[in-house]
Amino acid sequence: MGKVEVIRGDITKMEVDVIVNAANEALLPGGGVSGAIHRAAGPELAEACRRVAPCPTGEARLTPGYRLPARYVIHTVGPIWRGGTFGEDKLLEKAYRSSLALAQSQGLRTVAFPSISTGIYGYPVEAAAPIAIRVLLEEAPHFDALYMVAFDENTFAAYHQALIKLTRDSG
Ligand code: ADP
Repeated sequence: MGKVEVIRGDITKMEVDVIVNAANEALLPGGGVSGAIHRAAGPELAEACRRVAPCPTGEARLTPGYRLPARYVIHTVGPIWRGGTFGEDKLLEKAYRSSLALAQSQGLRTVAFPSISTGIYGYPVEAAAPIAIRVLLEEAPHFDALYMVAFDENTFAAYHQALIKLTRDSG
């Protein structure tokens, strides 16, 4: 059974098989975690993204990691928060599931996620965290390790709480 861990840190530093990027549908570098990943990987990443774009919300695309310590990047697109009544929860769940399905199909065993949709896309992190953690716990048996990498303390606390609660509920 693979482990699920919530850690505080910078996803561009993760030495894993694949890191996930919270991308936009055009797979353009942009700001937030995507900008950081593109800066760390180098300009080849934007080239590779052009070849696999676009990526509709909820889907995922694979590229090499170039100068990143991670071997690959999976680009997925979470929903933009529009109040919660536009199927945002299902789309967020789909983004995590699509990313893990793609990782598994490529034989990738260690995966690091950022907090998809909770930055520029405005998804409340307290609502996003249990959705993400539930999928990670469900899919963990297919992997060696799944990491949720939180960039700030508030994000770390939300995912840490969700992990404690959902682990307790299932145990
Ligand atoms: P979205 O557009 O999907 O909301 P953002 O990139 O705006 O994506 O934000 C997603 C999350 O990624 C936010 O919690 C943000 O603080 C975080 N983030 C930003 N830079 C990094 C980084 N280098 N490593 C991990 N997380 C990061």
